[in-house]
Amino acid sequence: MNLFDPVRYWKGVGPRRSEALARAGIETLFDLLTSYPRKHYDRGEVRPIRDVRPGESATLLGRVTALRERRTSRKFMHLFELELSDGSGTITAVWFNQPHLKRLFRVGDRVLVTGVVQTFRVLQVQPVEFEILGEGEGEEDSLHARGMVPAYTVPDSFGARSFRELVFAVLGEVGGEVPEVLPEEILSRRKFMDRAGAIRRMHFPSSQEEYAQARRRMAYEEFFLLQTHLALRRGVRRESVAGVPLRIGRALDFRIRSLFPFTLTAAQDRVMSELRTELGRSWPMNRLLQGDVGSGKTVVALYALLAAVGNRAQAAIMAPTEILAEQHLQTFRRLMGKSRVRIGFLGGGLRKKKREELLASIEAGEVDLVVGTHAVLERDVTFRNLAVVVIDEQQKFGVLQRAGLRGKGEEPHVLVMTATPIPRTLSLTVYGDLDVSVLDELPPGRKKVITLAKREENVFEFVRGKVAEGRQAFFVYPLVDDSDKIAAKSATTMCERLREVFPGRRVDLLHGRMKASEKEAVMEAFRSGETPILVSTIVIEVGIDVPNASVMVIGNAERYGLAQLHQLRGRIGRGSDLSYCLVLAENPGEIARERLKAFGDTSDGFRIAEADLLIRGPGEMFGTRQSGLPGFRAANPILDVELLGWARDDAFRFLETHPGLEGAPALADMVNRRYRSRSSLATVG
Ligand code: ADP
Ligand code: MG
Repeated sequence: MNLFDPVRYWKGVGPRRSEALARAGIETLFDLLTSYPRKHYDRGEVRPIRDVRPGESATLLGRVTALRERRTSRKFMHLFELELSDGSGTITAVWFNQPHLKRLFRVGDRVLVTGVVQTFRVLQVQPVEFEILGEGEGEEDSLHARGMVPAYTVPDSFGARSFRELVFAVLGEVGGEVPEVLPEEILSRRKFMDRAGAIRRMHFPSSQEEYAQARRRMAYEEFFLLQTHLALRRGVRRESVAGVPLRIGRALDFRIRSLFPFTLTAAQDRVMSELRTELGRSWPMNRLLQGDVGSGKTVVALYALLAAVGNRAQAAIMAPTEILAEQHLQTFRRLMGKSRVRIGFLGGGLRKKKREELLASIEAGEVDLVVGTHAVLERDVTFRNLAVVVIDEQQKFGVLQRAGLRGKGEEPHVLVMTATPIPRTLSLTVYGDLDVSVLDELPPGRKKVITLAKREENVFEFVRGKVAEGRQAFFVYPLVDDSDKIAAKSATTMCERLREVFPGRRVDLLHGRMKASEKEAVMEAFRSGETPILVSTIVIEVGIDVPNASVMVIGNAERYGLAQLHQLRGRIGRGSDLSYCLVLAENPGEIARERLKAFGDTSDGFRIAEADLLIRGPGEMFGTRQSGLPGFRAANPILDVELLGWARDDAFRFLETHPGLEGAPALADMVNRRYRSRSSLATVG
């Protein structure tokens, strides 16, 4: 059989097992060989029986000199005993309640056992593994009971032993055919072992060190394949996709910057310069802007948008919620004052007729800047000459919906903004073809947010005091309405309760199920300071910017992830007052308690993101499943940062000398196999 043959043709793998394998993502023999063990048991080398001491874990090999079955005194348990001798001594192997085992052994068999040695009158071991060696087989032939024994996540209808045996047999048959895919020069420069050897040692290494070397090589390879794929895709885009080069001369640059009523932070300044260069290119920009909550991404967005407008082209910005889109609209109106820029607001609350008029004027080019929700892209909106698109607060990066942008002439420049700070190396892994800009600085004058765990009664008193001083407060709860199934507080019920707790103060309710116009009115009253207390669900998680709000109360905080908590806390601490984040938790479990402690201990978004990543894993965080990026099997994108950097450098350099992977057919084939469905698309991630 060949390496890429379906595993269902393997002898002994019937329909039931091949289905189970398919469910585990194993279709071909190669898939099987790259389904690596979770870990290895180190059973150690075979030792003479005479040398082992009680309490030690040992692997022993002896001939069966006697077999016995017994029952414990009160007949509770069945005991099966094997007496083993190796010339140096004798030991009794004991199994409890496994009477079927007795049929496997005969006097004279050579048997390997591994387990902890004890003494009860005689030397004993209760084997965790055993193996009967055939005639002519040496201890080195043992799969299960000696040395480094692989432990797999075993697909249904296999046992630990049968799966191990399958992998071993397949390795023996086709393991030698595994083609090298890494270029020779890289193998020698990075001192990696060859691929066939590495795959074999992933399963059956002779030591921990050997396994570690094999794993590094395979982890590097996974990164290298991905980076090669991304570099290829990016190359294809540059050659084949036309963008709209935007000239941002001094005058335009100055005109935009002078709209901002504050001195830009050095980080904002730097990113705007980057944009100035990137927007001037004749291929579309494809850039991710990361900036912690409150770092001032909105004005950076406005810079890019107005660069388009200044070049007589159109621009659009999309926010994840109606409330945020509305907020952008207001910010822009405020900043742009009497400028002649024509802004269109594409909200869900628009009457049909109004909407049609707006769409017509967008199509005619009579609107310069469109502000709306992410849905703008999917809807049937046609631009006359769209040059810049900003996508605000994108949190799941796997699913950047850009289909709607294609097929309308040149592709616009795209700036995706996020406050989910992705550790930089990780964004390279997953979005190696997105350029990244970072706002790593907060505007001056920000006060630290004090985070405290509190009891509810104390919280109410505290908020009463702050409101009396003229401050505003958010109360956030997990549910809209009370639920029988979920033991958590709801915004609706708490709003009623808080109206009683704070008589004479306006307490408003905000949640996602309200009508757009209602939400707008509530937000407006809060923004203007009319409402001191806003009770809401997580809808205010992203983007809301009300500097006078300096208290955030998070109810049932045990139910939120770290990143979410950090986002929520980012709603306050935006003005010049000291701000307070008050955390209420009901019976947090151990993990939740740790999370809340981490939350109280740090306000650094990047550290929070890393902690979150370790808890949740990158797949979930990035939606890599939806994005079609295969998960890593050997690599850990958090821990293997150095390898990732190497792979990125090497892949981009290799493509410079081997454009289109010329002269590297095995590598090209592997990249295609892994990214088949995507590499032909040559589109944005
Ligand atoms: P985010 O990055 O979370 O989207 P915003 O763009 O909403 O942050 O900015 C947060 C607040 O900081 C806003 O009130 C904004 O006006 C203000 N801001 C932005 N840049 C500066 C700056 N350079 N100096 C002072 N305040 C700034
Ligand atoms: Mg924002």
